[in-house]
Amino acid sequence: MTLQGKTAIVTGSNSGIGLGIARSFAAGGLNVVLNSYSDTEEDHALAADLAKEHGVEVRYIQADLSSGEAARGLVESAGRCDILVNNAGIQHVAPVENFPAGKWDAIIAINLSSAFHTTAAALPMMRAAGWGRVINIASAHGLRASPYKSAYVAAKHGIVGMTKVVALETAEEPITANAICPGYVLTPLVESQIPDTMKEYGMDRDTAIREVLLKRQPSKEFATTDQLGGTALFLCSDHAAQITGTTISVDGGWTAV
Ligand code: NAD
Repeated sequence: MTLQGKTAIVTGSNSGIGLGIARSFAAGGLNVVLNSYSDTEEDHALAADLAKEHGVEVRYIQADLSSGEAARGLVESAGRCDILVNNAGIQHVAPVENFPAGKWDAIIAINLSSAFHTTAAALPMMRAAGWGRVINIASAHGLRASPYKSAYVAAKHGIVGMTKVVALETAEEPITANAICPGYVLTPLVESQIPDTMKEYGMDRDTAIREVLLKRQPSKEFATTDQLGGTALFLCSDHAAQITGTTISVDGGWTAV
């Protein structure tokens, strides 16, 4: 099955892991829909540059995925969805008793419920096309917990569960559903935590990264957005046609412990 000409929607793809996956897809000949909640000139220029670099179609479609209606609208506006990557996500860290209710709601909406809505809108398109891939970007926190991340860990465990259900509901069709579980990846989301960590522990940058951020990542190396793009592209390939309803960890050994 050639991937050339197929359309992939990657949610939350104007930075970080989503952008890395979008780049790998464009390089692999896929047409790509980029998305975020913003609608800036830079967002549209990113799409135009990616299209020019790889000779594929790349569109940017704004949708704030904290709304289920907007999440479904993203897929409908794209008009076609052979590959759906549910990647958009946010984080907030606080003990349960102080966790702001609004932050809980936003994390569950963006990191979990949006994937339910996009998947519900995309499956009929995949069935009509006779092929499809659902790839959910969960986390090592979809398989393990950490203190102070109640909403994030709940959402990530939730999306791993939903992945299995979608896989069972599509098992007899040429559609697969899997979750990729990254460990720490040096994206803007993680980069922004480094200065505070250095300050809090009185450490230089390298020590803070090694001793605090990568404490649970035995390789002591960040996973890269390019490695996640390659993993997502593999899940789209024929070699992965019988891989469904499972998780693939890209975490330097975190969940081996
Ligand atoms: P990032 O902040 O670089 O990217 C997050 C993306 O989601 C951005 O494009 C952002 O615009 C988008 N987004 C946020 N709120 C949105 C909304 N309301 N509507 C639409 N888009 C929205 O972060 P990242 O590290 O690339 O994270 C991407 C995914 O990978 C997330 O689901 C995150 O939980 C997961 N993840 C990240 C790491 C890591 O170490 N960076 C590890 C495991 C899992």
